[in-house]
Amino acid sequence: MLTQEKSQKRNWKPIIKELEAVLGKKGVIKRREELITYECDGLAAYRQRPDIAVLPKTTEQVAEVVKICNKYSVAFIARGSGTGLSGGALPIAGCVLIVTSLMRQILNIDLDNQRVVVQPGVINNWVTQTVSGAGFYYAPDPSSQIICSIGGNVAENSGGVHCLKYGVTTNHVLGLKVVTANGDIVDLGGQVQEMPGYDLTGIFVGSEGTLGIATEITLRILKSAESICVLLADFSSVEAAGAAVSDIISSGIIPGGMEMMDNMSINAVEDVTAMNCYPRDAVAILLVEIDGLDVEVTTNKQRVIDICKQNGARNVTSATDPKMRLKLWKGRKAAFAAAGHLSPDYYVQDGVIPRTQLPYVLQEIEALSDKYGYKIANVFHAGDGNLHPLILFDNSIPGELEKVEEVGGEILKLCVKVGGSISGEHGIGADKKCYMPDMFSDADLETMQWIKLVFNRKGLANPEKIFPTPRTCGEAARAMNQKKFENVDRF
Ligand SMILES: Cc1cc2nc3c(=O)[nH]c(=O)nc-3n(C[C@H](O)[C@H](O)[C@H](O)COP(=O)(O)OP(=O)(O)OC[C@H]3O[C@@H](n4cnc5c(N)ncnc54)[C@H](O)[C@@H]3O)c2cc1C
Repeated sequence: MLTQEKSQKRNWKPIIKELEAVLGKKGVIKRREELITYECDGLAAYRQRPDIAVLPKTTEQVAEVVKICNKYSVAFIARGSGTGLSGGALPIAGCVLIVTSLMRQILNIDLDNQRVVVQPGVINNWVTQTVSGAGFYYAPDPSSQIICSIGGNVAENSGGVHCLKYGVTTNHVLGLKVVTANGDIVDLGGQVQEMPGYDLTGIFVGSEGTLGIATEITLRILKSAESICVLLADFSSVEAAGAAVSDIISSGIIPGGMEMMDNMSINAVEDVTAMNCYPRDAVAILLVEIDGLDVEVTTNKQRVIDICKQNGARNVTSATDPKMRLKLWKGRKAAFAAAGHLSPDYYVQDGVIPRTQLPYVLQEIEALSDKYGYKIANVFHAGDGNLHPLILFDNSIPGELEKVEEVGGEILKLCVKVGGSISGEHGIGADKKCYMPDMFSDADLETMQWIKLVFNRKGLANPEKIFPTPRTCGEAARAMNQKKFENVDRF
């Protein structure tokens, strides 16, 4: 790994000269004050200024940049919009940051075959905006969709409100053009869903920039549903709302989306947006979207209303008007931003649990909130069991971040204990790598690292992410890494 010391000693002049020959002077950012923009992602508590940031426009330019990095053994890290919440695009000392913000072309739209080819810097929301006039949409819709990039979505295998029924990013990526960690340009997958051979597209999606850089992405788009209705169910207990979620899925209905917000989140959103559409006195609300053919929506809507009422919902309202539907979702999607008004800082955790464990886990999170003395707001993809507890704190108080991370760690361990996962959609990045051994055995982790070694032989592509390292994660990781390096000799 590159250390701060090595970075300071490095002579950047020849590297910059070669990078500028490929990208021009404007494509290479080297002034310290300009590099500040890139020193963190959405996990803003961690910062490290990159030594250089580059702005390529084409696949070939990315490949040339990667080759230069290889020539000088410089680590490189891809960055889309920098909204990641696990520090995936966090620079390390002595790295080149490859920023895709000038790679924003929609390269091909093929409505007949329901696919769109985009450059990685294209913003998620633009895909739907481009095809919606013809009655299509791109299903994965992270709450950050107005700013996050498709390249970032691919790297994180991002989810969103509508991924319960239609699947997360990996289910919507048909093919990828990738610059590998040694600068080769390869095509993974293709233009159709089923391709022979190993599913390398599947391996690349969710690899958090550690296997190379995606430079062209073929996305599957879907036909918009004939009918859509959003229900807002208002509960006087979180447990009752959790039980309704379980019952809806058990009844065989898969809603387009099913999200839960607790009282703190509801009020934060209402304070910030002044939309006046969520009941401020509800202990929890469920937003349930039902889509499909008219007849299907009418039938399922009534069934969902009945299930919510059987579980004690005080009230269930329904919206079919597109403006009202949008408004209901807008509030949910603003929830993270609204949490910023509840306290100076917040730490978002992202874990998954089996849906049936929702009431128990939410009670345990409340107990952790009491034990550690931090307020925790809950807003989450309830249908997927994907929790997003927002731990509210003040980072200007020394030691608070460490304590909050401890609470976050306890929540992750709780998720694993009940049979869940330490990440639903935000990835592992720099933030959660120390918890990987809580979920995976040595053999599991070693197998994953073999894959990484195949694509990223020198370890230059996004180092220090996903896997625990001795320097960052203590004894367990040290032992695991020792084993890894012993095995490299066999390679
Ligand atoms: C308010 C808010 C709400 C959010 N809501 C959601 C949500 O609902 N669902 C969800 O899943 N996430 C959500 N996120 C997290 C984040 O938006 C996603 O992880 C998103 O996919 C990151 O995209 P980005 O362009 O910002 O990527 P970045 O943060 O720039 O990078 C993320 C990772 O992708 C890698 N990367 C970027 N581009 C490439 C590329 N072309 N090739 C290879 N690797 C690449 C980076 O190295 C890094 O590891 C939210 C974030 C915020 C701030």
